Formats: sequence, structure tokens, C-alpha cells
Amino acid sequence: MSAQNDDTAQGPNTRLVGAGRRPEWTGTPDHPAAVVNPPVWRASTHLYADMAALRAHPANEDGRFYYGRRGAPTQWALADALTALEPGAAGTVLYPSGVAAMAGALLTVLRPGDVLLMTDNAYEPSRVMGRGLLRDFGIETRWFDPCDPAAFEAAICERTRAVLLESPGSLTMEVQDVPALAATAKARGLVVVLDNTWASPLGFPALQMGADIAVMSLTKHVSGHSDCMMGSASAGPEWYRKLRLRAQGLGNVVSPDDAALMLRGLRTMKVRLDAETASALAIAQWLEGRTEVSRVLCPMLPGSAGHDLWQRDFTGGCGLFSFVLKGGTSEARDALIDALSLFGIGYSWGGFESLATPVDPAAIRTASAWPLPGMDAADRFGVRLSIGLEDTADLITDLDRGLAAWSAAL
Ligand SMILES: *Cc1c(COP(=O)(O)O)cnc(C)c1O
Repeated sequence: MSAQNDDTAQGPNTRLVGAGRRPEWTGTPDHPAAVVNPPVWRASTHLYADMAALRAHPANEDGRFYYGRRGAPTQWALADALTALEPGAAGTVLYPSGVAAMAGALLTVLRPGDVLLMTDNAYEPSRVMGRGLLRDFGIETRWFDPCDPAAFEAAICERTRAVLLESPGSLTMEVQDVPALAATAKARGLVVVLDNTWASPLGFPALQMGADIAVMSLTKHVSGHSDCMMGSASAGPEWYRKLRLRAQGLGNVVSPDDAALMLRGLRTMKVRLDAETASALAIAQWLEGRTEVSRVLCPMLPGSAGHDLWQRDFTGGCGLFSFVLKGGTSEARDALIDALSLFGIGYSWGGFESLATPVDPAAIRTASAWPLPGMDAADRFGVRLSIGLEDTADLITDLDRGLAAWSAAL
């Protein structure tokens, strides 16, 4: 979709309210902008008035009716809105999930024989993609310490074609120096792909910070209601065009019903993120003061690892962070999570309801230390929290009950 992202004079909430609501997508020629939301255009077949109209139709142009796989105004409005929120983007491609977006982006950038450098704190399915899908297509993935720019530079070789960054990283929340890593990558001719699901463009303008392609799981913050899956990749003109062609080649398409749900979630995204951030910060501070807790992994927390970079580069946060318990056992952690009544047990995040899941980074990482330097080797059992929109005091009461169950089970 064409860029509408140069109106930086307006604040983010104002832009979220207006994004993607083009008059021609919310009305008819004689009554443009007749309704607030782009209607759900359920369509596989698109019809032409006559043969002359069919023959005159431009080949593969954005925002033009052609055939269902290229979408209709509901999907165009969502892509347009996401482009408008991403400074520097010329367009956004939608995918059926965040993982599909990651696969779509990496398969656009990489060719057989290439090496991909992947941050060691990447989302687990991204790691699995490196070991599986990419390897099967003759692409080699190597992992690097997320917080060591020198190790990253040293890992670049002749065949390195791209780098996948994620900041803060899944589970362990390290903030990467994206501008510095991207500058190194650019100097060596690498393409920079960034998983920006945690911050979204509201908290981290990925392309401005040096990424070539910004990938997001819309399933999390944009949906915000735990009932819909989708992914996106936004980029400047060159990569947008390539992403779009590759997505078409792979047959990616999203349903108009899901696009409408995403557009609905998008309107309240900043209000939700701000509320979750404030609540998460208060809860992280409370956890920091607890004797059962070894380390709170939350870059929004003053004094915590990554906070300086977070303050320098980010304009907002979200409700997702982790903490590591002091010593203990896996069974005691199960007791902690089972004792929570307001936190669901589930693998997603970014919804209006709070979630808790166990975190065991040691089993996953290959290129960086865990436990983190300064942490006791016995401090192995982590919990990831996705803070939703419940009242903070109630969530703290719930966690207090959980920590009591942990202590009782030791
Ligand atoms: C959930 C998630 C994804 C994948 O998104 P899906 O929509 O679940 O496929 C990618 N990256 C991160 C950081 C995630 O948390």
C-alpha cells in the first residue's frame, strides 16, 4: 500500500484512530466515508464490467481489485494503517501469522548458500526455522550473543547475507543496540530483519533505527484480544516490492474478517499498551523487592539490564517481562503458576487478560551465557508474565499467593 506515514505532527493515538480509513474504503462513490470502519469484503472472485475493463487492468498494482488472493479494501485498509504507523515504510505485507511473516521475510532475503546470523535470544519458532526450513533450503543459520556487538561483527563471513534481530528478546528480554548492530550490518552489506513484536512501531520505529524489514506478530498487541492470528512485514520501497512478490508466490492471504478484527484492535492499541506498561512496571518493581526473586528481566525497570538502551531508543513499552526465582525446583514453580487465579497459563501475550508461562532459557540458548553473569547457577527457573488490563493491585495479590505457594513447595 502507498505510504501515508509522513504526518508525524500528529500524536500516535490520533494516527491510530485515523489510519487506513480511506473514504473510498468506507463508503461508495456517491457517499465516501459513509461508515466508520472499512466493511468486511468477503470475496474470492472480483468482477470486471466488460472485456475492455479486464484488458485495461494494470498488472499487480496495490489497492486495485483483481482476485481474492490480492485482498480487497478490508485487508488493504489494515496494511495501509500499519504502513502509516511505521516511519520510513513504503508498504506492509500481511501474513496468516507472525511465523508466516518471519518465513516470508527470510525467504525473500536469503538464497541457497547464504548464512543468516540470528540473535541468540530469538523467539523459539524463529530458531526452529533456522534449524529446519532454512537449512532444508540450503541456508545456514549461526547464532550470536544478543548483547555483544563485537561478537556479531566477528561472526560475519563472506556468505553472510542477513541478520535477524529481536529486541527485547523473547523470554530473557535483552535489549539490543539495534542502531549499532544495523550500522555494522549495513557496512558489511547485510540485510537487517527485526522482529519488532514486543515494542511495535509505537514503541520502536524499527526502520528508522536501521532495520530493512520490520516483522510483527499482529496476534499480540494489534489484536489485543486473544482471538485472531496474523503477521506483518513493513519495509521501504525496494524490500516492500520484493516481500510482496514473494508473499504472492507463496500464496499468502489473510481473511477479511480477521483483518477487520485487527483494525478494531489497532484503534485502542496505544491506550492498552500504556496501561499494560504502567501496570507491568509496578509489578516488576514489586517483584524486585521479593526475597524469592533472583532477577527481574524487564528493561523498562530503572537499574535493570538494558534499561539505558531502552531509554535511549524506545518511546513505549508493553506488559511482557520475565523474572527468575532464587534456586528452587521446577515443581515449586509449577505450584507458583498453578496458584495464580488471574493469570491464565498459555503461550501467547499482548491480550487484555494476563498470562504466565514457565521460562527455561538454558535449554534453548547456544551462543550466550545463561544464567546471566552475576546470577547464581542455581537460579534457573523463570516465569514470563504478560500483564493485561486487570487492576494492578489484584494482580499483585495474585502473585503474592503464587510466591507463597512456591515457598510452601520448597
Ligand atoms: C508470537 C510471536 C511470534 C509469532 O507470531 P504468531 O502470530 O504466533 O505466529 C513472533 N515473534 C515473537 C517475538 C512472538 O512473540
